[in-house]
Amino acid sequence: MAKTTELICVTCPMGCKLTVTHEGDTILGIEGNVCKRGEAYAQTELVDPRRMVATTVQVVGGVHPLVPVYTTAPIPKPLIFDLLSELRQVKLRAPILAGRVVLEDALGTGVTVLTSRDLPAAPG
Ligand code: SF4
Repeated sequence: MAKTTELICVTCPMGCKLTVTHEGDTILGIEGNVCKRGEAYAQTELVDPRRMVATTVQVVGGVHPLVPVYTTAPIPKPLIFDLLSELRQVKLRAPILAGRVVLEDALGTGVTVLTSRDLPAAPG
């Protein structure tokens, strides 16, 4: 039985509001997308929704107690809370360089988590 799902395409800053008619994960029709990437987004969203994750992890001995980190690719949406939980256990020792690997193959997804900035050690 056909169903209609409303989605916001997050592929670019336009944020088109999509109305997707589908049976299961088969798209029958789509409205509201300005470009073809909206269709691809809707298909992924129905079958395997994924998101980039940006958060912070704890730092020991740094000028700040936290350093920002990000996933190098989107991870399956159902795994986001597990990833955040795993990252809460991480403690990095300063100094830290941007691009340092925090987690490799996070939760078996093949996605790497990297630091997004340098963080010097605290003086003294
Ligand atoms: S449908 Fe195209 S223009 Fe609209 S938000 Fe998605 S990528 Fe951007």
